[in-house]
Parts: sequence; C-alpha cells; structure tokens
Amino acid sequence: MVNTFKPDTLTEALRIREETGALPFAGGTDLMVRYRAKNGMPPTIEGPVIFVDTISELRVIREAGSALEIGASVPLAVVAGDPGERAAYAESGASADASSLAAIPEVLRAAAADLGAPALRQRATMAGNVANASPAGDTVAALYVLDAEVILASSGGERVLAVTDFITGPGRTLLADNELITAIRIGRPLPDWGYWRKVGTRRANALTKISAAASAWTEAGRITRFTLAFGAVGPTVIRVPEAEALLNGKSSAHLIGSAGKELAAAAVEAAAPSIKPIDDQRSTARYRKTVALNLISEVISSLAAHLKENNT
Ligand SMILES: Cc1cc2nc3c(=O)[nH]c(=O)nc-3n(C[C@H](O)[C@H](O)[C@H](O)COP(=O)(O)OP(=O)(O)OC[C@H]3O[C@@H](n4cnc5c(N)ncnc54)[C@H](O)[C@@H]3O)c2cc1C
Repeated sequence: MVNTFKPDTLTEALRIREETGALPFAGGTDLMVRYRAKNGMPPTIEGPVIFVDTISELRVIREAGSALEIGASVPLAVVAGDPGERAAYAESGASADASSLAAIPEVLRAAAADLGAPALRQRATMAGNVANASPAGDTVAALYVLDAEVILASSGGERVLAVTDFITGPGRTLLADNELITAIRIGRPLPDWGYWRKVGTRRANALTKISAAASAWTEAGRITRFTLAFGAVGPTVIRVPEAEALLNGKSSAHLIGSAGKELAAAAVEAAAPSIKPIDDQRSTARYRKTVALNLISEVISSLAAHLKENNT
C-alpha cells in the first residue's frame, strides 16, 4: 500500500518532502501513465506520494513585482484561457485577478490550449509538464521563448532557475529531493506577439511530432527582441540564437517580399545545425527537420503581419 500525503499548506508539503522525499503528484496525467499497471489495476507507484494539486498557495496566478507568476498547481485549462474554466476556477476559491489572466502571453496560452484534450487540461499542470522534461513538452517550448524561470522551494528557502537550466535532458531536471516547484515566473516586459505551432497527427490528444514557438517584443514597427524555439528536435526543447539574432532590429519591410525570403533562407541556414531530431514512433528525423525549417517562413510572415498591423 502506497503511503500518501495530502497537505493543505505549502509549509506542510515542504516538511513532508524534506522528511520523506515523497513523489509530487499534481494532475497525475504523466504519472498515471508512467506507473500504469498492465492488468487495469491501480498504478504501481513505489514509495510515498504527495498530492500537491489542492494546495491553495500553488493555485495562484499573480503579478509579483515586474513578473507574472503562475502557480505550480494551476490547471492548464485556466492558462489556456477557456472562459468557462476560468470562471469555475475563480469560484473554486483559487486566486487569479483578471489582469494577470489577461497578461498570459499568447504563445503560452496557445501551447496550453493545444496540450492533450479538454478533460486532460482540467487536471494537467505546467509544473508537471516542466518537471516531466519531455523534449516534446508543449508548454515547455512556450516557456523557453519567454525566458521563463522555475521557482523552487524547500524547507530551507527558495531558489529560482531559468527553465533552460532547470531541464537538463530528456526526463531530467535539477529538482532536488526536498524541493517542490511552487510557480513559473515570466518576467516583464511581456512580448506583444507570439507564435505557436504544434504538428501532430490530429487536433486533440496528438503526440507532438514537432513544435515551434516564438515571441517578439516590438517598438515603433521594429523588432527589439525575438526568440524562437523548437520542440522534439533534440534531447530537450532548443532555442536557436543564431537565427533569432537575424531578426533583431528588423521592420516589416525586411520581413516581406524578396527581403523576407532572403531573411527566411538565412534563418533556416542559421537554425539548421541545431536541429537534430531522431527517428521514433512519432515521426522520422527527416520529416521533423524539414517541417521545423519550413515553419521558419511561417513565423516570419506571421510576425511581418503583426508589425504591419501595429504600425499604421
Ligand atoms: C492522453 C494524454 C495526452 C497528453 N498530451 C500531451 C500533449 O499534447 N503535450 C504535452 O506536452 N504533454 C501531453 N501529455 C503529458 C502530460 O499531460 C503533461 O506533461 C502535463 O502537463 C503533466 O502535468 P500533471 O500535472 O498531470 O503532472 P503529473 O503527472 O502530476 O507529474 C508529472 C511530473 O511532474 C512532477 N511534479 C508535478 N508537480 C510538481 C511540483 N509542484 N513540484 C515538483 N515536481 C512536480 C511529478 O513528480 C512528475 O515527475 C499527455 C498525457 C496524456 C495522458
């Protein structure tokens, strides 16, 4: 019989984590699969389990100084922006003011809305997606282009790591045995444009063959900062800084027509060496690389349209 804990407060949860090293269980949508029993019996988790989904301190979305913080146990349905889910969430006593919800960047909202299917998103969390550290993790790719940070707490205090440092390999992170993720932090200024594209076999519950996420910060019709990441093209989600640099300082004129085509070709050349997918049951390396590079043109034309629209 597995020993289970269901603490009401974060302090209690951290004490239990410290004393027992119990496995954190949020939505359980990864864990129930990881520990599934073949004969339809309950999952076979060895060792103690700590349920973190109802700890109210972890169910908060808030402005913290100049950053937006999304609590570890906020369901992805809320991040995805389903109005019904957000209303139900508010009624459940969870704390999130309308301006914090509205501030969730488009790339993250769209990635959350594409993860799994509606019922799954009511349980699944972003902390679970990040801790699971799959190179195909949908919200992970979005968090990479937002330079998001992971807030970790233990009984001894708090530390903050860039999500790109926290995830060290497929299924591997720097989470210590006595720590919990308490929130994901996204620093301001937030981007004013976001792009998300997941390529899978169907619309819901699709395994991600490849994903692309991008963000841009623009001012007076120019790109002041641009970030681009791909999922499922390496052991972790990757950023492509060489390609990103090519777009900085550009206006819509550089992104359309023959200039846009040249820029896309240069960005493809810059990104290509970093894109090293593998063949697996979801897709082939060749397909993944081709699609990833093709998406760069779509990213550029989508950003060009945004710049044009916002500089008239
Ligand atoms: C049918 C199906 C479809 C899916 N589709 C997608 C998809 O399209 N895209 C995608 O990216 N993923 C998908 N997934 C995977 C999964 O739903 C996501 O990774 C989800 O975000 C996991 O969140 P969770 O809260 O359920 O995590 P859990 O299963 O509860 O936990 C996952 C991991 O995170 C750890 N953890 C959870 N909370 C904390 C915390 N606060 N602190 C420290 N560690 C913590 C757990 O210990 C565990 O290692 C799918 C899964 C299923 C079953």
